[in-house]
Amino acid sequence: MTTWGLIGASSIAAEQMIGAFRSNGGTIKSVLSSDSARAQSYADTHGIAKGVTSLDEMLADPDLDAVYISTTNEKHFAQAMAAIAAGKHVLCEKPLATNIDDAVTMVQAAKDAGLVFATNHHLRNAGSHIAIRDAIKAGKIGRVLSVRVHHAVLLPKHLQGWRLTSPEAGGGVIADIVVHDADTVGFQLGEYPVDVVAMSAESGLGQGVEDSCMSIWHMPSGVMVQTHESFTHEYAKTAFEVYGTEGAILARNVMTPAPMGEIEIVTASGRAALPFSGHGLYDHAVKLFEGALAGKGRPGADGVDGIKSLAVAAAVAQAAKSGQRTAVDFKG
Ligand code: NDP
Repeated sequence: MTTWGLIGASSIAAEQMIGAFRSNGGTIKSVLSSDSARAQSYADTHGIAKGVTSLDEMLADPDLDAVYISTTNEKHFAQAMAAIAAGKHVLCEKPLATNIDDAVTMVQAAKDAGLVFATNHHLRNAGSHIAIRDAIKAGKIGRVLSVRVHHAVLLPKHLQGWRLTSPEAGGGVIADIVVHDADTVGFQLGEYPVDVVAMSAESGLGQGVEDSCMSIWHMPSGVMVQTHESFTHEYAKTAFEVYGTEGAILARNVMTPAPMGEIEIVTASGRAALPFSGHGLYDHAVKLFEGALAGKGRPGADGVDGIKSLAVAAAVAQAAKSGQRTAVDFKG
């Protein structure tokens, strides 16, 4: 049974991860906030033994096996490095860092220390995305020609903070959502783009950071991928569509934290629903992490997966800024 420390008194921990740790048999011993009153009230609200403001104090606790890092993005690197130095396993939120060199350094440090390091890319844990991947692998739609990802949503009111205003904290829709789309496409196709073109915009919510982005990715196999991410689309439904030589997989409402949506396969024989498991995405992520700790299998998304998704997002950001077709640099 894993004893966890929460680095970050965050919304995502409150809404998803605390429940996921506990439903997998874990205990949460402490939570870190930069503000002592907030640390204490968060600990009280969520039944956590200790609210702390010192990372060193938290990491000095020999009872802690692992930490979950869900602070704003610019803090992930230093906190992950400190946790690794203290011998703690790490489940880190995406994007792993605000630049690729830091992400590579933290993942390598965990590897050198023999610790489990995972990236909390939830979508690859969804029953819907596992079913899509299995259908592609089984050849149900023939050779894949293209993928369209529609991940434009309205950023919920309570999250309309640093994501919209703070480039320093790693705000913007590219850091927030393109990483998830890169991970999901990588999971589905088993490959990541060679290069990308992109445009981004402030379309109503962003203040000095982009709140919308469209990009096109060229994959090593020749598959073309088109993605749309936004924080401003109140009336859109998310979609993930895969087009092949023998059919198409059309999934609606599957780019979400909840186990929901519908999937249809269209082939020459007609249209059919593709059934999928309704397990919790974050529960599944923690289950796989626990398995990796026990030496059974790997986390859903490991550190290298987190580096790859960040590399794609970095290329998309650079392409949008420069207007140029931009190579994805995975740093080896
Ligand atoms: P929050 O804004 O909720 O939390 C981030 C930090 O902001 C906290 O560590 C806390 O720091 C501070 N904070 C939070 N709430 C308050 C508040 N009410 N008043 C004052 N300060 C507050 O961030 P999110 O949970 O949305 O995101 C955290 C991380 O998780 C990011 O890296 C994000 O990309 C990732 N994420 C991942 C998701 C996934 O599905 N994998 C989904 C959502 C987020 P402090 O207490 O030190 O002030």
